[in-house]
Amino acid sequence: MRKILTPEQFNQETADALSTLTTTASIESFRAQFTEPAMAALAKESIDVWENFAQVTGLEGYEIDLHHGGYLFLTTEEEMVADFKATVAAYHKVGVTDSEYLTGDEILKRWPWLNPEIKAGAFRAKDGWFSAHEVTQGFARAADHARFYVRTQATGIETDAKGVCAVITDRGRINTRVVVNAAGPFAINVGRWVGLDLPIYQMRRQRVFVAPHPKIPRDAPLIMDVDNESYWRPETGGALLGWHDPEELKSDPMEDPQGDWDFPAFTLEMCSRLSPFWTEVVDDLKQEDLSVYAGQYVHASDDQPLIGPVSGIPGFYLNCAYWPGVMLSAAAGRWTCDLITGKMKPEDNPLRLSRFEEGLTTAPGAFMRGRHL
Ligand SMILES: Cc1cc2nc3c(=O)[nH]c(=O)nc-3n(C[C@H](O)[C@H](O)[C@H](O)COP(=O)(O)OP(=O)(O)OC[C@H]3O[C@@H](n4cnc5c(N)ncnc54)[C@H](O)[C@@H]3O)c2cc1C
Repeated sequence: MRKILTPEQFNQETADALSTLTTTASIESFRAQFTEPAMAALAKESIDVWENFAQVTGLEGYEIDLHHGGYLFLTTEEEMVADFKATVAAYHKVGVTDSEYLTGDEILKRWPWLNPEIKAGAFRAKDGWFSAHEVTQGFARAADHARFYVRTQATGIETDAKGVCAVITDRGRINTRVVVNAAGPFAINVGRWVGLDLPIYQMRRQRVFVAPHPKIPRDAPLIMDVDNESYWRPETGGALLGWHDPEELKSDPMEDPQGDWDFPAFTLEMCSRLSPFWTEVVDDLKQEDLSVYAGQYVHASDDQPLIGPVSGIPGFYLNCAYWPGVMLSAAAGRWTCDLITGKMKPEDNPLRLSRFEEGLTTAPGAFMRGRHL
């Protein structure tokens, strides 16, 4: 039975700092390997920011713990080989030209500890991971004119004849002509405050941290098993692992997404399929070597974010519907600002809400299209 939070509990448990809620649950990885032009554009621009963070923010010497560990998608299924080739070609088409298609032999030559049954892979060496906490703190520190209200719950939005005019909070009213709905899993609720039924849903996702162990290769890339939807990457001698349980149901944004006690066992088994050393690690593990976290992915029906103004509600902007929201955040924030200031025209923004009515979306489903990190 999942715990549903009251608004008061929500305020205490989820809003007491920057970089909370879903962002804390993330495994903080980034990749440029997307097939959708808009996703690839957001990812590439964001990666540029991660790679030059101190310079972009003007915070001299500021570190975000950036690792170019690489992202390696793998399959042991012969019938997936053609899909992998086509997907790498699609990456190249949207400008991610440094993604490599690799055969099973090439993969084993580079990572001899992997399962010899692997048939194909897609690899980009410059993908990797960083600290989302340091990134958030860095952006906040660099935004010296911005004011942050932590432990403050927004409870409504007021509109007048000109559009949005105020946000109501439990600590008072904030008059404003611009509101950005960046409420993560609560975006659906915030949309309802202005009469908007956003075409999105939430889904709990979990991940487990495994304490350092000598058998975990420290120089491994992020390994993604496309066949069983499990993944892992090294982290300070240990590792972060995840698995997309196919039986997971859509979740309520007000639920407190707790991790399941048996999640580590399932996930370690899934990850050991391609990385067999995990079976040896498991033999040594004690309960205190494992910690599980959970958060909610937010999906639009085409697995792409919602960014920009909403027709009929002047001043109300979206920056929500993220399942890979950490890695895309730098560019998504920039797009949102440019749409507010008029630097970007709404019609030049492919992630606008009206894309659904305009028939500009494609159905999700192909592998690596959005179900996977
Ligand atoms: C297990 C797991 C692994 C993941 N791994 C990755 C990964 O490797 N890479 C990646 O890019 N993404 C990853 N993600 C996804 C990523 O964490 C999310 O897409 C991202 O954190 C979403 O950021 P957000 O700012 O939209 O939402 P959130 O981080 O949830 O932030 C929403 C904020 O809005 C605030 N808020 C909401 N409603 C109100 C209100 N009424 N009043 C005041 N404040 C409010 C909340 O307190 C919170 O601070 C992962 C997610 C999970 C669960």
